[in-house]
Amino acid sequence: MSPPPAESSEERNLAHTQNWLRLSGLTATTLPIDFRDIRTGEHVPDPAQTVLTLPAERSEKHKKEQLEAIEARWSDAKAQADGVTGQPASTADLDDLLDRNPKLFADLRRLPVNAVAFYRPFHLEPFDRWGIYIYVEHLMSYATQVRFVAPFLAGVSKEVLLHLVLFDVFHHEFYHHLAECAATTMEIFADAIGAPIPSYVNYRIAVGAGKFADHAHNPLEEALANAYAYHGLGFISRVKTGYLDALVGSYQKNLTAQWLQEGPGYRHAASYLSGAQIPGNGQLLAMMLQRKRHPALDQVAQSVMPSGYAAFVPKPDIPTYLVGTPKQVQDFHAMVPAPNETYCHLFWPFDTKPIEVHLKNRHKEREDAKKAAKAAKAHRR
Ligand SMILES: [Zn+2]
Repeated sequence: MSPPPAESSEERNLAHTQNWLRLSGLTATTLPIDFRDIRTGEHVPDPAQTVLTLPAERSEKHKKEQLEAIEARWSDAKAQADGVTGQPASTADLDDLLDRNPKLFADLRRLPVNAVAFYRPFHLEPFDRWGIYIYVEHLMSYATQVRFVAPFLAGVSKEVLLHLVLFDVFHHEFYHHLAECAATTMEIFADAIGAPIPSYVNYRIAVGAGKFADHAHNPLEEALANAYAYHGLGFISRVKTGYLDALVGSYQKNLTAQWLQEGPGYRHAASYLSGAQIPGNGQLLAMMLQRKRHPALDQVAQSVMPSGYAAFVPKPDIPTYLVGTPKQVQDFHAMVPAPNETYCHLFWPFDTKPIEVHLKNRHKEREDAKKAAKAAKAHRR
């Protein structure tokens, strides 16, 4: 058995904050919310309680050498020899794949999001069980469904798709952490100046009780969480290029169609893209304060919180549990060898060099053809 990883300073600080929250009467053991399946209306057990009893394995960070070893094992030639599947589409399929218009996820219904992953707030006791819980079996079956229904993604290996889905789902849940951190900051400030404390737990109870039901996109936090995950994917594709860029772009397009199949709040994520998330987050801060919207809150939402920089614990250190039997977790690792690095920055063990070369040549051919057409037109004049 390897020793548990050293606790980070963020985790230690958070433990102090949790103690203060408890002493201030701001914590709870459960969120007394009536959880219902969004489709059937059936009562579902409170996931904050059920996750505590399920088998789970914490997802750990890898060392640089370990990641290099994974990449070597997954590289094309070696992978074939070892029988590792999961390479992305072959270049032969690629043109077809890229030229096709991405169709919508016509009949796909994502499992209720609580069934794929769940964020357990750090306001809940027992304190050491806060974090993100990912139900690996549901995630895998969701990825299979997506691949089956979305034509663009049919030629993409299930392993590639699972990497994208994991990144997407983690970022949705990470947004809930950002929202909780924003609320906690307000609790701390209010207490420091002796003002009435806008309690996070009360905010969550108010959401569950339908207090904000007059908002057109209630529950707003879910719409913003979906939009946050979408923007996270966009950021990755600006950093990396080529195949991944094309793939992420297509995944995003499909995602916006997918949202429409989801429950209230979730399905309104498209209203919070490309800048519109700022007033959305300003509105969320107002709900947490249980006050009317104030225009200056948008300034805070844009530059202070809830933004990725305002997380109390950074992404790689958020306790993230892969929920499932040892066999399910093992199957999951066979497809996603480094989950922590995948959900944080889309670590990518696939050998995409042949595809990148193909894409580059294709791009050049098209540019050359465009130039030739322009020259011919100028000549005719
Ligand atoms: Zn959510």
